[in-house]
Formats: sequence, structure tokens, C-alpha cells
Amino acid sequence: MTRQPHPTVLFVGAGLLDPEAGTRTPDSWLLVEDGLIAGSGRGPAPETGDAVEVVDLAGATLMPGLIDAHVHPTAFSADLGAAMDESPSYVATYAARSLNAMLRRGFTTVRDVAGGDWGLARAVDEGLVDGPRLMFGGKALSQTGGHGDFRAPGRQGNDTHACCPGAGVVCDGPVEFRRAAREQLRTGAHHLKIMLSGGVASPTDRIDSTQSSEDEIRAVVEEAEAANRYVTGHAYTARAVNRGLRLGVRCIEHGNLIDESSIELFLEHDAHLVPTLVTYQELSRQGARNGLPPASQAKVDTVLNRGLDALRMAHEAGVNLVFGSDLLGGMQDRQSEEFTIRGRVQPAVDVVRAATVNAARLLGLEGTIGTLRDGARADLVVVDGDPLADITVLASPEANVRAVLRDGEVRYGRDGWR
Ligand code: ZN
Ligand code: ZN
Repeated sequence: MTRQPHPTVLFVGAGLLDPEAGTRTPDSWLLVEDGLIAGSGRGPAPETGDAVEVVDLAGATLMPGLIDAHVHPTAFSADLGAAMDESPSYVATYAARSLNAMLRRGFTTVRDVAGGDWGLARAVDEGLVDGPRLMFGGKALSQTGGHGDFRAPGRQGNDTHACCPGAGVVCDGPVEFRRAAREQLRTGAHHLKIMLSGGVASPTDRIDSTQSSEDEIRAVVEEAEAANRYVTGHAYTARAVNRGLRLGVRCIEHGNLIDESSIELFLEHDAHLVPTLVTYQELSRQGARNGLPPASQAKVDTVLNRGLDALRMAHEAGVNLVFGSDLLGGMQDRQSEEFTIRGRVQPAVDVVRAATVNAARLLGLEGTIGTLRDGARADLVVVDGDPLADITVLASPEANVRAVLRDGEVRYGRDGWR
């Protein structure tokens, strides 16, 4: 595989999967020029000069690169507290490997919602790490004893220096939350993440607690709005989700225990929901051997069963649903399994939309990624099979993803893919 900067490539014989239209059109062509999509259509391709490389996909699907809006490439273990004691260089190296594996599964953009920072995003931009484009929020903001406080109850000290590779920063009171928000924004964060309820991977909180006071949440929302960014919140229960949405949080992570009252608020505020079902399936199956502490094991079952019901309810009501996986440690290689789980509740086309056009809208990149529109970035995946007919095609990337392009460059190609 040779890599040229921005080659002009004409794909022919493609099944073009357009997530916005919800269609797959066989016998189609698509032109990539200067890293962008320069045109596409059905039937015979336009005449091009000798300088254009023509690639016959022989019926394979060509679709926008996938977007995962909830990843933690720096999470080398399900024991998130372990990161505080690790070397930043070890964590960065782990993250590089994790990001590369995501790219090979067809993900060309991912959103890091705790742990990843500006250094990792820059390494991807400069090509030091061959991974998906990284949208990061820096460290998640958490109250003492909250989901971003990974100390065991007997531990007092909490070293949250900026160079420590932990996933959370502990703050109390609106002044500290505001400062922490500004610290993340100062490094170029694309969003801010705040803990609105207890979680699975934190040792001392409860799933059904609410976290961060109203004035703390308001301070963070105000800072995000001032910087033209948005706040996303970790929350499970309707009580925690609704509180966040009413206070201006624009996106909710997980949401497994929501009810009809939450659905109304999602619609009223045009907010996004990022379910992360595969992580509960995998934590249940293999959390212990991936470092999940016993106190966290018991929490998994509570949220596992209700997650599918929440997804069904949100889908039927027309909530903006976005793809997320939230896997930790060695479980990250199950990322694409989320497609199969969602396919049990949603039509394939809606699952594809969650990982393309809906995710792009959440990231503020609508029309730029997650689409085949002219002028969009040529982030593309070549897939054997038709994901609209069978969504599980995307769940076996090692068998079905033939090539991955980011900004028009082939970043991964299997078996001399042409
Ligand atoms: Zn979370
Ligand atoms: Zn997470």
C-alpha cells in the first residue's frame, strides 16, 4: 500500500450507501479530489484524464467513514483509577494502538469523552498516529466522590495535574467547575463532559445518585456556550438526565434508565442521546478479567437490561440517536458489536445514520463528514456486503472492511484490497 497525499481517484462499480437518503445505489461512481468528494452518480462514470486513478470496486459498498461518539482510547484497563498511577508515555502508546485498531474497523472520526487530550489529537493530525480524527473534551468534570473520582474510599490524595493521564478532574463548587471547564477549553476541547450521575467504573458512587449541583452544571454550560462549544453529560436515570437537559446539557451519554419524561425533554431541546450498549454486554461477559473492580461488577446488571428498552423508546419517538461504544481496556476490540445490538431494536438504516450523519451533526460537522455530499471530506469505507440489508456486516470488520480512506487517502487496505 503506497500513500500519496490527496491523489485523485475515481471509484466505479460501487454500491453507494447514502445514509441521508437511506439508500444503496449499485453501479455507481464517486470521484475523490483534493481529499474531498468531488461528485458521484449512477451509471457510466464521467470521462477523466490519465492522471486519475480508476478503482473498480466490483459491487462492494462505498459509504461514509463511521463515527463513534463515545470512546476512551487511553483507557488501558477497566480499572480507570489505575491510570492515575501510570506513565503518560505508556498511556499514549496504548491509545495510539487503540486508535489504529478503530481506524481498521472503519471509524474515521471518534469522539473521546474522557481521557484523550490535545496531544493525542495533534498526533493524529500530524500522522504520528494512524487513527481516526479525534474530537476530544479533555478530562471529565466530576464532583468529589463522583463518576470521575477514581479514588478508593481510603485514599485521600488526588493528583490531577494536567500531565497525569487520568480521565477525570475533581472539582467542587461552581468556581472550581468553571475553572476546570476553562482549562479543558484552553487546550482546544471540542466539548465539555460533566458527570450528572453515578457510574459503573467508579468505586464509591451509586448509579441512581445525581451528581454536580445545579449551579455547578450552569457554570459549565455557560462556559461551553461562551466558547461556542457544548456540554455532554454522563447519566443513567430519568432524574439525572432530565436535570441536565433542563439546565442546558446538549447531549446525554448512556441514558439506560430514562423514561417518557426524558424523551419529551430530548425532543423539546433537540438534544442528542448516545447509548453505549456494547460496553455493558462486554463488562458483564469479561469485565473481571479486564480489571473491573468487584464494586463495579454489581452495577453492570442494573443498566444492561434496561438499555435496549431505552433505545427502543428513543428510536420510536424520533430522538437524535448517535452511535457510541464506551469500551475499556482489552474489551475495545468489541467496538463494532454495537451495530449488532442496535440492529435488534432499530432498522439497519437508522443504525447507520447514528454512526454517520447523526454523529456528524452532534460534532458540529454536518455536511463535512458522515455524508457522501459533494464537498464533504472523502472519509470513506469500502465494505463487502450491504449494511442496509444486514447491519451485522459492519460488526465483522476484519472480514468485511476492505479499505478505509480519511481525507481521500487510503489509511488501511486489506489483502492488497484492489
Ligand atoms: Zn459514562
Ligand atoms: Zn465513557
